[in-house]
Amino acid sequence: MKRYVLILFFFLFAINSKAQIYLNMGAVDTSVVEVKQALVFYNSYFAAFKHRKLPEMSAYWSAEELQQRKVPDQLMYGINDYPLYGLGYTPTILYVRPGPKYIQIKTQFGYVDSLKNISTICITNHYVAFDQFKKPYFISALKINSASWKMKKVRNITFYYPAYHTFNTIRADSLCFQIAKLEKDWSLKPIQVRYYFADTNEELIKLRGFDYNILMGNRDKPSGMSDIRDNQVFCGGLGENYFHEVAHLYLNPLYPNSPLQEGLVVTMAGSMGHPLNWHLKRVNEYLQHHPEADLNKLDDFWYTDTYTNPGGAINAMICSMVFKKEGLTGLKRLMQYTTLKEIFEKELHVPDGHWNTYLRKNIQEQAAL
Ligand SMILES: [Zn+2]
Repeated sequence: MKRYVLILFFFLFAINSKAQIYLNMGAVDTSVVEVKQALVFYNSYFAAFKHRKLPEMSAYWSAEELQQRKVPDQLMYGINDYPLYGLGYTPTILYVRPGPKYIQIKTQFGYVDSLKNISTICITNHYVAFDQFKKPYFISALKINSASWKMKKVRNITFYYPAYHTFNTIRADSLCFQIAKLEKDWSLKPIQVRYYFADTNEELIKLRGFDYNILMGNRDKPSGMSDIRDNQVFCGGLGENYFHEVAHLYLNPLYPNSPLQEGLVVTMAGSMGHPLNWHLKRVNEYLQHHPEADLNKLDDFWYTDTYTNPGGAINAMICSMVFKKEGLTGLKRLMQYTTLKEIFEKELHVPDGHWNTYLRKNIQEQAAL
C-alpha cells in the first residue's frame, strides 16, 4: 500500500481550485431539474474537503448510514489513508444517470503531466437521492452494491460475502481462534468487526463504488484493506481467514505513531497469504541482484515486485528478531518508538549510515532459516 501513498502524496497540492467539477463533453443532460440539484449537491460536497479535514458528514449522508459508520463514503479512503477528494486530483464527471430511486454520478479522478499524458487514479460512482422534503443526500455505493450479499456472524466477526460463495465455517473458526489468542496476548477486548470478503480484491473495490482504481490490475493475489475508523476489513483471496487485516484493527490503535505498524502485523499474521520468511526470501534475492539498493534510506525501498512489500517485510524482521529474543514484552516496548532512527539506535544499536550493512546481513541470515 505504501507505494500508492507515496505516489498520491507527491501530487498533493492546492485543492478544489475549481468551483465546479468539469462535466465531460456531451455527457450530462442538465435540463433535468433533479440532475441539476444533484450536481449542485455533489459540487458542494467536494468543495467542503480541505486536505485531510472532512466536511460535516451529517450535511450529506443519511442518519441511518451515519449510525452504521463514521465515514459512510467508502470511496474516500478506498485507495489509501488520505481523503481522495482532498488530494487535488482533477475530477471529471463522466456521466449522470437519473433513476427511479437515485441519481448515479460517475466521476474520473486524474491529472495531466507535463507531457500531457492523462493518468487516471480512479473512476467512482456516487448516488444522490432526495428525501421527503426534496433535500438531497448520498446513498453509499457499498449499501447499493452489497444488497445481494450474504451475511453470517461468528463470534465478533460479521462476514459479508457474495451469493456465489458457500460459507466455510472451518476457516471462520480458524480466524476466530487466532483473534482470541491475539486478544489474550495483548489483553484486548473483542472488537465488533465487519468483514467483507470475495474471491478477488477487485470485487471488493467495485463493491465500494469504484469502476476502476490504481490498486486494480496485475496478476491476482490475496490482498486486502483495513479501516480502523469503522472497524471493517475488505479481504480478497483468502476467504474467511484473512487474519492480517483483522489484526490491524486490534493493533494499529495501540501504537498509532509507530513506524512498525505493518511490520508487527506481518510478524503475527503474515502478508498477502504468505508468512514473513517467504517475503524475506524474496527481498533477499532482490538485494543480491541489486547491490545498488541503499537500505540506509529505508523509506525509499518500498517496491520490489507486486508480490511483496519489502519495507513491511524488513520492519517485520525487526519485530520478529526482538520477539524471538524477548517475547511480547520486548515487542510491546519496540512498538512505543515513533521513528526508525530511534529503533536502530536504541534497540538494534546500529548508528546512522550502517543500516544497509546491518539489514542486508540480517535479511540474508533470516531468509536462510
Ligand atoms: Zn497490513
